[in-house]
Amino acid sequence: MSCGFSLDHYRELLDAAHEGGYRCAGFDRPPVAGDLLLRHDVDLSLEAALTLAELEAEAGAWSTWFLMTRSVFYNLASAEGERALTRLRELGHRIGHHAVWPHVDLDERFDRVVAWHNPDPGYMAAPIDGATNAMTAPWFDPPHYRSDSNARWRNGCPHEALARGDFEWLQLLTHPEIWVYPGATMRETMDSYLDAERAARLEQLRSDRIDLD
Ligand SMILES: [Zn+2]
Ligand SMILES: [Zn+2]
Repeated sequence: MSCGFSLDHYRELLDAAHEGGYRCAGFDRPPVAGDLLLRHDVDLSLEAALTLAELEAEAGAWSTWFLMTRSVFYNLASAEGERALTRLRELGHRIGHHAVWPHVDLDERFDRVVAWHNPDPGYMAAPIDGATNAMTAPWFDPPHYRSDSNARWRNGCPHEALARGDFEWLQLLTHPEIWVYPGATMRETMDSYLDAERAARLEQLRSDRIDLD
């Protein structure tokens, strides 16, 4: 098994967690032994989020999707954004807010849970009025946390440790774009993302009645 960032290996991660006896959990109660808190920060692409969300549902898993209201890459208030929100809920997932400091735009679209986008250490773990901050105790604790930031695992891919049941519980943060778009490096993955984005933009131009002939 190779630990690349691909849909195949994401599925293998989920299967490894299942083998290790873990069950999906969210941020609505403190983690207990055997919990796997799947968390996704959606930085770039709702399309990638939906692809991974469907894969998780097929594998019998669910996660908490942190979506942005102030992204420069996607618009959650667009028809596409509304479709993504509806589909994620239909599949049994939960939706948190991926906030851009200092704005917390919690509304009825979100569960009361927030994770900051690209946080500075100064406010990353600060309490948030009326919401759970995903990076605070008891949900965040370094030995119980792994993330795939920039297509690099700081402590290695956790699939083997999950299969062995090594973690008492784990918050696993992954970014859907890294797994959905092919590439051996972050740069290659971003080039694949941009190719897909160009094709999608051409479709959007057509449906916006722009003459492309
Ligand atoms: Zn692996
Ligand atoms: Zn982010």
